[in-house]
Amino acid sequence: MTGTLRPLWAEYDEDALAQNLAFVRRLAGGRRLIASVKANGYGHGAVAMAEALARQGVDTLWTGSIDDALAIRAAGNKARIILFAGPLPSDMPAVLAQDLTPTIHDRAGAEAVAAAARQPTPIYLKVDAGLGRLGVPLEEAAGLIEAIAGMRNVVIEGIYTHLPFGTAAGRDWAAGRYAGFAALLRRLTGRGIRPAVTQAWASSGLLAGLPDDSNAVCVGHLLYGLSPVDADVAGAGALRPVLSAIKTRLIHVVRHAAGRDAAIGGQYGQRNARLSGVVPLGLGDGMRNAAAGETASLILRGRRVLILAVSLEHTTLDLTGVDEAAVGDEVIVVGGSDGLANGFRDFARWFGCSELEAVMGFSGRLAARQPRA
Ligand SMILES: *Cc1c(COP(=O)(O)O)cnc(C)c1O
Repeated sequence: MTGTLRPLWAEYDEDALAQNLAFVRRLAGGRRLIASVKANGYGHGAVAMAEALARQGVDTLWTGSIDDALAIRAAGNKARIILFAGPLPSDMPAVLAQDLTPTIHDRAGAEAVAAAARQPTPIYLKVDAGLGRLGVPLEEAAGLIEAIAGMRNVVIEGIYTHLPFGTAAGRDWAAGRYAGFAALLRRLTGRGIRPAVTQAWASSGLLAGLPDDSNAVCVGHLLYGLSPVDADVAGAGALRPVLSAIKTRLIHVVRHAAGRDAAIGGQYGQRNARLSGVVPLGLGDGMRNAAAGETASLILRGRRVLILAVSLEHTTLDLTGVDEAAVGDEVIVVGGSDGLANGFRDFARWFGCSELEAVMGFSGRLAARQPRA
Protein backbone atom coordinates (compact mmCIF):
# COMPACT_ATOMS: atom_id res chain seq x y z
CA MET A 1 0.00 0.00 0.00
CA THR A 2 1.82 3.06 -1.19
CA GLY A 3 0.90 6.34 -2.73
CA THR A 4 -2.05 6.97 -0.45
CA LEU A 5 -3.20 10.52 0.11
CA ARG A 6 -4.76 9.54 3.38
CA PRO A 7 -2.66 10.88 6.25
CA LEU A 8 -2.62 7.65 8.23
CA TRP A 9 0.38 5.37 8.29
CA ALA A 10 2.24 2.66 10.12
CA GLU A 11 5.97 2.60 10.80
CA TYR A 12 7.80 -0.72 10.79
CA ASP A 13 11.16 -0.94 12.50
CA GLU A 14 13.50 -3.41 10.85
CA ASP A 15 16.14 -2.87 13.53
CA ALA A 16 13.60 -4.12 16.06
CA LEU A 17 12.99 -7.19 13.90
CA ALA A 18 16.76 -7.86 13.74
CA GLN A 19 17.07 -7.47 17.50
CA ASN A 20 14.09 -9.75 18.21
CA LEU A 21 15.52 -12.28 15.79
CA ALA A 22 18.87 -12.24 17.59
CA PHE A 23 17.04 -12.77 20.89
CA VAL A 24 15.12 -15.71 19.41
CA ARG A 25 18.28 -17.23 17.95
CA ARG A 26 19.95 -17.05 21.36
CA LEU A 27 17.01 -18.83 22.96
CA ALA A 28 16.91 -21.42 20.17
CA GLY A 29 20.57 -22.32 20.69
CA GLY A 30 21.49 -25.01 18.19
CA ARG A 31 17.92 -25.51 17.04
CA ARG A 32 16.99 -24.39 13.59
CA LEU A 33 14.69 -21.39 13.29
CA ILE A 34 11.58 -21.41 11.15
CA ALA A 35 9.80 -18.06 11.02
CA SER A 36 6.02 -17.88 11.05
CA VAL A 37 4.56 -15.19 8.80
CA LYS A 38 1.01 -16.45 9.11
CA ALA A 39 -2.03 -14.20 9.22
CA ASN A 40 -0.42 -11.64 6.93
CA GLY A 41 2.76 -11.64 8.99
CA TYR A 42 0.79 -11.21 12.25
CA GLY A 43 -0.82 -8.23 10.58
CA HIS A 44 2.51 -6.61 9.65
CA GLY A 45 2.32 -7.59 5.96
CA ALA A 46 3.38 -11.09 4.92
CA VAL A 47 5.37 -10.07 1.85
CA ALA A 48 7.19 -7.20 3.58
CA MET A 49 8.00 -9.31 6.65
CA ALA A 50 9.16 -12.23 4.50
CA GLU A 51 11.49 -9.86 2.65
CA ALA A 52 12.80 -8.34 5.87
CA LEU A 53 13.38 -11.81 7.33
CA ALA A 54 15.23 -12.86 4.17
CA ARG A 55 17.52 -9.83 4.61
CA GLN A 56 18.20 -11.15 8.11
CA GLY A 57 19.16 -14.57 6.80
CA VAL A 58 15.96 -16.50 7.51
CA ASP A 59 15.52 -19.14 4.80
CA THR A 60 12.43 -21.03 5.94
CA LEU A 61 8.97 -19.56 6.40
CA TRP A 62 5.76 -21.02 7.64
CA THR A 63 2.24 -19.76 6.95
CA GLY A 64 -1.25 -21.16 6.85
CA SER A 65 -2.39 -18.84 4.08
CA ILE A 66 -1.86 -20.14 0.57
CA ASP A 67 -2.63 -16.69 -0.78
CA ASP A 68 0.08 -15.12 1.39
CA ALA A 69 2.49 -17.89 0.36
CA LEU A 70 1.79 -17.23 -3.31
CA ALA A 71 2.21 -13.48 -2.81
CA ILE A 72 5.58 -14.09 -1.12
CA ARG A 73 6.64 -16.25 -4.09
CA ALA A 74 5.34 -13.73 -6.62
CA ALA A 75 7.52 -11.09 -4.95
CA GLY A 76 10.54 -13.21 -5.89
CA ASN A 77 11.26 -14.58 -2.42
CA LYS A 78 13.07 -17.92 -2.71
CA ALA A 79 12.59 -19.02 0.90
CA ARG A 80 11.38 -22.48 1.66
CA ILE A 81 7.66 -22.00 2.40
CA ILE A 82 5.86 -24.59 4.46
CA LEU A 83 2.10 -24.44 4.77
CA PHE A 84 0.65 -25.04 8.22
CA ALA A 85 -2.49 -26.30 6.56
CA GLY A 86 -5.00 -24.94 4.17
CA PRO A 87 -5.27 -26.70 0.85
CA LEU A 88 -7.93 -29.20 0.05
CA PRO A 89 -6.49 -32.50 -1.18
CA SER A 90 -7.82 -31.60 -4.63
CA ASP A 91 -5.62 -28.47 -4.69
CA MET A 92 -2.41 -30.37 -3.95
CA PRO A 93 -1.17 -30.26 -7.58
CA ALA A 94 -1.31 -26.43 -7.52
CA VAL A 95 0.48 -26.31 -4.15
CA LEU A 96 3.31 -28.48 -5.43
CA ALA A 97 3.51 -26.58 -8.71
CA GLN A 98 4.20 -23.39 -6.73
CA ASP A 99 7.02 -25.05 -4.80
CA LEU A 100 5.14 -24.84 -1.50
CA THR A 101 5.59 -27.60 1.04
CA PRO A 102 2.27 -28.92 2.35
CA THR A 103 1.43 -30.11 5.83
CA ILE A 104 -0.34 -33.43 5.84
CA HIS A 105 -2.52 -34.63 8.67
CA ASP A 106 -4.54 -37.39 7.12
CA ARG A 107 -4.40 -40.15 4.57
CA ALA A 108 -6.39 -38.28 1.93
CA GLY A 109 -3.86 -35.44 1.91
CA ALA A 110 -0.92 -37.84 1.67
CA GLU A 111 -2.56 -39.75 -1.18
CA ALA A 112 -3.21 -36.48 -3.01
CA VAL A 113 0.50 -35.63 -2.76
CA ALA A 114 1.46 -39.11 -3.93
CA ALA A 115 -0.88 -38.79 -6.91
CA ALA A 116 0.42 -35.34 -7.87
CA ALA A 117 4.14 -35.87 -7.20
CA ARG A 118 6.36 -36.51 -10.23
CA GLN A 119 9.51 -36.70 -8.13
CA PRO A 120 10.42 -37.17 -4.45
CA THR A 121 8.33 -34.46 -2.78
CA PRO A 122 8.81 -33.23 0.78
CA ILE A 123 5.88 -32.91 3.13
CA TYR A 124 5.53 -32.01 6.79
CA LEU A 125 3.33 -34.09 9.00
CA LYS A 126 1.43 -32.48 11.82
CA VAL A 127 0.56 -34.33 14.99
CA ASP A 128 -2.14 -33.15 17.36
CA ALA A 129 -0.55 -33.79 20.73
CA GLY A 130 -3.52 -32.35 22.61
CA LEU A 131 -4.41 -28.89 21.33
CA GLY A 132 -7.31 -30.31 19.37
CA ARG A 133 -7.05 -28.13 16.31
CA LEU A 134 -5.13 -29.45 13.31
CA GLY A 135 -3.17 -32.65 13.08
CA VAL A 136 -3.41 -36.41 13.18
CA PRO A 137 -4.26 -37.46 16.75
CA LEU A 138 -1.16 -38.60 18.64
CA GLU A 139 -2.49 -42.14 19.05
CA GLU A 140 -3.00 -42.51 15.28
CA ALA A 141 0.18 -40.75 14.22
CA ALA A 142 2.54 -43.73 14.06
CA GLY A 143 0.13 -45.65 11.84
CA LEU A 144 -0.34 -42.75 9.42
CA ILE A 145 3.38 -41.99 9.32
CA GLU A 146 4.24 -45.60 8.53
CA ALA A 147 1.63 -45.66 5.77
CA ILE A 148 3.02 -42.44 4.27
CA ALA A 149 6.58 -43.69 4.53
CA GLY A 150 5.56 -46.43 2.11
CA MET A 151 4.04 -44.03 -0.44
CA ARG A 152 5.89 -43.38 -3.67
CA ASN A 153 7.50 -39.94 -4.03
CA VAL A 154 6.26 -38.70 -0.64
CA VAL A 155 9.14 -37.73 1.66
CA ILE A 156 8.35 -36.94 5.28
CA GLU A 157 10.78 -34.06 5.77
CA GLY A 158 9.34 -32.83 9.02
CA ILE A 159 7.12 -33.93 11.88
CA TYR A 160 5.75 -31.27 14.19
CA THR A 161 3.14 -30.42 16.73
CA HIS A 162 1.85 -27.20 18.27
CA LEU A 163 1.37 -26.62 22.00
CA PRO A 164 0.85 -22.90 22.48
CA PHE A 165 0.02 -21.48 25.91
CA GLY A 166 -0.25 -18.18 27.70
CA THR A 167 -0.45 -19.00 31.40
CA ALA A 168 1.53 -20.95 33.98
CA ALA A 169 -1.16 -23.65 33.96
CA GLY A 170 -0.89 -23.77 30.18
CA ARG A 171 2.86 -24.22 30.44
CA ASP A 172 2.41 -27.30 32.63
CA TRP A 173 -0.19 -28.66 30.23
CA ALA A 174 2.14 -28.11 27.26
CA ALA A 175 5.10 -29.77 29.00
CA GLY A 176 2.95 -32.82 29.71
CA ARG A 177 1.68 -33.03 26.14
CA TYR A 178 5.16 -32.56 24.76
CA ALA A 179 6.23 -35.77 26.51
CA GLY A 180 3.75 -37.70 24.38
CA PHE A 181 5.11 -36.12 21.19
CA ALA A 182 8.70 -36.84 22.20
CA ALA A 183 7.76 -40.46 22.88
CA LEU A 184 6.27 -40.72 19.39
CA LEU A 185 9.51 -39.41 17.84
CA ARG A 186 11.52 -41.96 19.81
CA ARG A 187 9.21 -44.75 18.68
CA LEU A 188 9.60 -43.65 15.06
CA THR A 189 13.37 -43.49 15.39
CA GLY A 190 13.25 -47.09 16.62
CA ARG A 191 11.47 -47.98 13.39
CA GLY A 192 14.02 -46.19 11.24
CA ILE A 193 11.91 -43.09 10.55
CA ARG A 194 14.08 -40.03 11.18
CA PRO A 195 12.67 -36.86 9.61
CA ALA A 196 15.14 -34.06 8.93
CA VAL A 197 13.06 -31.58 10.94
CA THR A 198 11.27 -32.16 14.22
CA GLN A 199 9.58 -29.26 15.96
CA ALA A 200 7.25 -28.60 18.84
CA TRP A 201 7.93 -25.25 20.43
CA ALA A 202 6.75 -21.88 19.26
CA SER A 203 7.19 -18.53 21.03
CA SER A 204 5.65 -19.62 24.32
CA GLY A 205 7.67 -22.83 24.77
CA LEU A 206 10.86 -21.11 23.69
CA LEU A 207 10.38 -18.14 26.00
CA ALA A 208 9.47 -20.39 28.92
CA GLY A 209 12.59 -22.47 28.27
CA LEU A 210 10.79 -25.81 28.15
CA PRO A 211 12.96 -28.88 27.54
CA ASP A 212 13.18 -29.89 23.90
CA ASP A 213 14.52 -32.95 22.08
CA SER A 214 13.48 -31.72 18.65
CA ASN A 215 15.81 -29.89 16.29
CA ALA A 216 13.77 -26.86 15.22
CA VAL A 217 11.53 -24.15 16.63
CA CYS A 218 8.85 -22.26 14.75
CA VAL A 219 8.46 -18.73 16.02
CA GLY A 220 6.06 -15.94 15.17
CA HIS A 221 5.02 -13.68 18.08
CA LEU A 222 8.52 -13.00 19.40
CA LEU A 223 9.86 -11.92 16.03
CA TYR A 224 7.31 -9.13 15.89
CA GLY A 225 8.01 -8.10 19.46
CA LEU A 226 4.89 -9.67 20.91
CA SER A 227 4.92 -11.92 23.96
CA PRO A 228 2.21 -14.59 24.04
CA VAL A 229 2.70 -15.43 27.72
CA ASP A 230 1.78 -13.84 31.03
CA ALA A 231 4.55 -12.05 32.90
CA ASP A 232 4.73 -14.79 35.57
CA VAL A 233 5.58 -17.38 32.90
CA ALA A 234 8.43 -15.40 31.37
CA GLY A 235 9.51 -11.82 30.96
CA ALA A 236 9.39 -10.35 27.48
CA GLY A 237 13.17 -9.86 27.51
CA ALA A 238 14.48 -7.35 25.06
CA LEU A 239 11.55 -7.56 22.67
CA ARG A 240 10.79 -4.45 20.66
CA PRO A 241 7.63 -3.89 18.64
CA VAL A 242 8.24 -4.15 14.91
CA LEU A 243 5.08 -2.21 14.28
CA SER A 244 6.59 0.70 16.15
CA ALA A 245 4.15 3.48 15.39
CA ILE A 246 0.81 4.36 13.89
CA LYS A 247 0.41 8.02 13.10
CA THR A 248 -2.07 10.31 11.47
CA ARG A 249 -2.73 14.04 11.05
CA LEU A 250 -5.52 16.38 12.01
CA ILE A 251 -7.70 16.96 8.96
CA HIS A 252 -10.12 19.25 10.75
CA VAL A 253 -10.04 21.53 13.77
CA VAL A 254 -13.16 23.29 14.97
CA ARG A 255 -13.93 25.70 17.79
CA HIS A 256 -17.38 25.16 19.27
CA ALA A 257 -19.38 28.02 20.67
CA ALA A 258 -18.92 28.28 24.43
CA GLY A 259 -21.50 26.43 26.46
CA ARG A 260 -22.74 24.28 23.63
CA ASP A 261 -22.41 20.51 24.05
CA ALA A 262 -20.96 18.60 21.16
CA ALA A 263 -23.29 15.65 20.54
CA ILE A 264 -20.42 13.60 19.13
CA GLY A 265 -19.10 12.89 22.58
CA GLY A 266 -22.50 12.17 24.10
CA GLN A 267 -21.94 8.53 24.66
CA TYR A 268 -18.92 9.20 26.85
CA GLY A 269 -20.46 12.04 28.77
CA GLN A 270 -17.76 14.38 27.43
CA ARG A 271 -19.41 17.76 27.35
CA ASN A 272 -18.46 21.19 26.29
CA ALA A 273 -15.38 20.38 24.28
CA ARG A 274 -14.56 23.88 23.13
CA LEU A 275 -12.09 22.70 20.60
CA SER A 276 -12.33 19.42 18.75
CA GLY A 277 -10.39 17.82 15.94
CA VAL A 278 -10.77 14.94 13.53
CA VAL A 279 -8.24 12.38 12.29
CA PRO A 280 -8.86 9.91 9.44
CA LEU A 281 -8.74 6.80 11.60
CA GLY A 282 -11.96 4.86 11.94
CA LEU A 283 -13.53 1.50 12.54
CA GLY A 284 -12.47 0.57 9.01
CA ASP A 285 -8.83 0.95 10.06
CA GLY A 286 -9.05 -1.18 13.18
CA MET A 287 -9.87 1.64 15.58
CA ARG A 288 -12.65 0.98 18.05
CA ASN A 289 -14.63 2.78 20.68
CA ALA A 290 -13.34 2.25 24.18
CA ALA A 291 -14.96 -0.38 26.36
CA ALA A 292 -17.27 0.78 29.14
CA GLY A 293 -15.34 2.56 31.87
CA GLU A 294 -12.25 3.12 29.71
CA THR A 295 -11.14 6.42 28.22
CA ALA A 296 -8.74 6.26 25.31
CA SER A 297 -6.46 9.07 24.23
CA LEU A 298 -4.05 9.90 21.44
CA ILE A 299 -1.01 12.17 21.56
CA LEU A 300 -0.83 15.63 19.97
CA ARG A 301 1.91 18.23 20.46
CA GLY A 302 3.27 16.35 23.47
CA ARG A 303 -0.09 16.15 25.20
CA ARG A 304 -2.77 13.51 25.62
CA VAL A 305 -6.01 14.31 23.86
CA LEU A 306 -9.12 12.34 24.77
CA ILE A 307 -11.09 10.48 22.15
CA LEU A 308 -14.67 11.71 21.97
CA ALA A 309 -15.94 9.17 19.46
CA VAL A 310 -14.90 6.73 16.76
CA SER A 311 -16.98 6.40 13.60
CA LEU A 312 -16.49 4.37 10.44
CA GLU A 313 -13.72 6.52 8.99
CA HIS A 314 -12.93 9.09 11.66
CA THR A 315 -11.92 9.63 15.25
CA THR A 316 -13.02 12.85 16.92
CA LEU A 317 -10.69 14.26 19.57
CA ASP A 318 -11.25 16.67 22.43
CA LEU A 319 -8.58 19.32 21.83
CA THR A 320 -9.58 21.48 24.74
CA GLY A 321 -6.43 23.06 26.11
CA VAL A 322 -4.40 22.53 22.95
CA ASP A 323 -5.29 25.91 21.52
CA GLU A 324 -2.49 25.93 18.96
CA ALA A 325 -3.75 22.70 17.30
CA ALA A 326 -3.90 23.08 13.53
CA VAL A 327 -4.87 21.05 10.49
CA GLY A 328 -1.87 18.96 9.47
CA ASP A 329 -0.57 18.42 13.00
CA GLU A 330 0.82 14.93 13.54
CA VAL A 331 -1.21 12.79 15.94
CA ILE A 332 0.40 9.73 17.49
CA VAL A 333 -1.95 6.77 17.76
CA VAL A 334 0.67 4.18 18.72
CA GLY A 335 4.19 5.15 19.69
CA GLY A 336 5.60 8.22 21.37
CA SER A 337 8.47 8.84 23.70
CA ASP A 338 9.66 10.37 26.95
CA GLY A 339 7.05 8.81 29.15
CA LEU A 340 4.26 9.87 26.83
CA ALA A 341 3.48 6.91 24.65
CA ASN A 342 0.67 4.61 23.59
CA GLY A 343 1.41 0.92 23.26
CA PHE A 344 -0.75 -1.88 21.95
CA ARG A 345 -1.11 -2.92 25.56
CA ASP A 346 -2.96 0.36 26.18
CA PHE A 347 -5.25 -0.28 23.23
CA ALA A 348 -5.87 -3.82 24.43
CA ARG A 349 -7.07 -2.40 27.76
CA TRP A 350 -9.12 0.33 26.12
CA PHE A 351 -10.71 -2.07 23.64
CA GLY A 352 -11.11 -4.94 26.10
CA CYS A 353 -9.15 -7.37 23.94
CA SER A 354 -5.72 -8.98 23.82
CA GLU A 355 -2.61 -7.18 22.63
CA LEU A 356 -2.44 -9.45 19.58
CA GLU A 357 -6.06 -8.69 18.74
CA ALA A 358 -5.34 -4.97 18.92
CA VAL A 359 -2.33 -5.37 16.60
CA MET A 360 -4.25 -7.57 14.18
CA GLY A 361 -7.12 -5.12 14.13
CA PHE A 362 -4.94 -2.18 13.16
CA SER A 363 -2.25 -3.52 11.01
CA GLY A 364 -2.19 -4.85 7.52
CA ARG A 365 -4.63 -2.13 6.53
CA LEU A 366 -2.35 0.87 6.95
CA ALA A 367 0.07 2.33 4.47
CA ALA A 368 3.63 1.52 5.49
CA ARG A 369 6.34 4.09 5.97
CA GLN A 370 9.85 3.58 7.18
CA PRO A 371 10.56 5.46 10.38
CA ARG A 372 12.36 8.72 9.93
CA ALA A 373 15.90 8.75 11.26
C1 LIG B 1 1.42 -19.99 14.74
C2 LIG B 1 2.15 -21.24 14.87
C3 LIG B 1 3.46 -21.24 15.34
C4 LIG B 1 4.15 -19.98 15.81
O1 LIG B 1 3.52 -19.57 16.98
P1 LIG B 1 3.99 -18.27 17.79
O2 LIG B 1 3.29 -18.38 19.08
O3 LIG B 1 3.49 -17.10 17.02
O4 LIG B 1 5.45 -18.32 17.90
C5 LIG B 1 4.13 -22.45 15.40
N1 LIG B 1 3.53 -23.59 15.02
C6 LIG B 1 2.26 -23.64 14.55
C7 LIG B 1 1.67 -24.92 14.14
C8 LIG B 1 1.52 -22.46 14.46
O5 LIG B 1 0.28 -22.50 14.00
